[in-house]
Amino acid sequence: MGAVAVVRDITIQKKIEESLRVSEERLRLAQTRGEVGVWDWNVVTNDLHFTPELEQLYGLSPGTIKTYDDWRELTHPDDIEKIEFERDNQIAQHKPFDLEFRIFHHSGEMKWLSTRGGATYDDNGQVKRVLGINTDITNRKKAEEILQTTLLRFYKILSSMSASVLLVTADNKVEFVNQEFCDYFHLNEEPDYFIGYTSLNMTRVIKSAYRNPEEALLRINDIVNNYKPVHGEEVLMRDGKPYGRLWLHLDITEREKTEEKLHESNTKLIKEVNDHQQTELRLKDLVNELKRSNKELEQFAYVSSHDLQEPLRMVALFTQLLERRYKGKLDEDADDYIKFIVEGAKRMKLLIDDLLSYSRLNSSSSEFGPIKMDKVMGNVLSNLQLISEEKNAEIKVHEPLPTIIGDESQMMHVFQNLVANGIKFNDKESPEINISAQEEENGWIFSVSDNGIGIVPEYQAQIFEIFKRLHDRDEYPGTGIGLAICQKIIDRHGGKIWVESSKGKGSIFYFSIPSKK
Ligand code: ADP
Repeated sequence: MGAVAVVRDITIQKKIEESLRVSEERLRLAQTRGEVGVWDWNVVTNDLHFTPELEQLYGLSPGTIKTYDDWRELTHPDDIEKIEFERDNQIAQHKPFDLEFRIFHHSGEMKWLSTRGGATYDDNGQVKRVLGINTDITNRKKAEEILQTTLLRFYKILSSMSASVLLVTADNKVEFVNQEFCDYFHLNEEPDYFIGYTSLNMTRVIKSAYRNPEEALLRINDIVNNYKPVHGEEVLMRDGKPYGRLWLHLDITEREKTEEKLHESNTKLIKEVNDHQQTELRLKDLVNELKRSNKELEQFAYVSSHDLQEPLRMVALFTQLLERRYKGKLDEDADDYIKFIVEGAKRMKLLIDDLLSYSRLNSSSSEFGPIKMDKVMGNVLSNLQLISEEKNAEIKVHEPLPTIIGDESQMMHVFQNLVANGIKFNDKESPEINISAQEEENGWIFSVSDNGIGIVPEYQAQIFEIFKRLHDRDEYPGTGIGLAICQKIIDRHGGKIWVESSKGKGSIFYFSIPSKK
């Protein structure tokens, strides 16, 4: 029958379709590359449309999300209420919203999305649709979290520093102060109280803590205005761009005090060393003086005792003559007097002899040489044989005695004195004397012990003094020179002499002889 053909020019339509396709393509590409997705929510029907790119952000295949409830299902429950509240609040005011929330990715992983959008309204102002664009901000959130913990750690370090710390931002706002800072500037508030303070206000608060507030303020202003780094009080970032300031106040009062003290003790030390040197010098002088006067004394003792000998001999001689010729011819008293004079003269002779031998000790001494102490002891024993037999004494020598370096006859003198005393000052039936020697680090220690009457501790030092005796002559004869001589001899040998004793318990006399190199 015929054909009707309608020919329509669709070039424009094709062009529009083409450009639509291109722009859709472009949008899709932009969404994929930018990790964003678009959504469109019909509030009336509750239908929710996700672009495939948005579904991809959730790890879902296209067309999975269909309703608003599907979105809620995949949103972190802690975020839903908050985000709905803020979104609706913005929408009600006809304002766009910009929110962040967490979602559950299909893999189970949690992700952060940001959503920006707004609503369309009908003529009555009722909301018709809400549209938005979502972005995956998980990586940014992670970075922020790391930054946050780093910052916290940084603040923690600053808090626990024993320096007072004040951190100010580039726009001169207080960002951080630590407790030390508050203490240092006598501020009663908690450190966080000052966060956000301007530099100027902060300076006002702390200024009174400076000894010279006005000067300090000028200095601070100078630093702040000129961005001067001052001895590390101000920290500039590596790129040289100022991000803020870090004020560190270190309390150097203690350091100053310590330095002061150090100086003081140094001066004291120097003074002490000086004093010490002075004392040493004085001591040296004193020792020399002592040596000299000792020598003088010795000389005097020697000369006087020597010179006294002659007149004494005369007195003794003539009183003896008197006694012989006139005894019984005068009255009884005269006989007694003569007897006393004779005894006194004899005793004086003894004393002078002792004094002479004491003062001769140094001049009569011979050179040091090796001495076999066993041999010395043998001589002593034979010298004392008579007395010891008389007193029924038992003398034990714990041989072998060592060989030492010294003056033989003087050593004999020492032993003889000590052993004789041990027998003399003894009230036992049979006095027991023990002689022994013990090697020490620096030489030998000899000991002579007895079972005699003993010596009370308070007199033990005195008995070594010249003419010092603890007993009456009638009780125990003697002049009191023996131990003084021993002391002098042991001194000359570089040793020491001492006694250990208690009353009635016997005595042990010790003397040390250092070994000569
Ligand atoms: P002297 O024997 O001539 O009295 P010493 O100098 O030898 O002089 O002794 C001084 C004093 O020390 C003695 O008078 C005596 O009191 C006391 N003394 C010395 N040796 C002993 C001893 N072994 N036991 C008790 N007393 C002693």
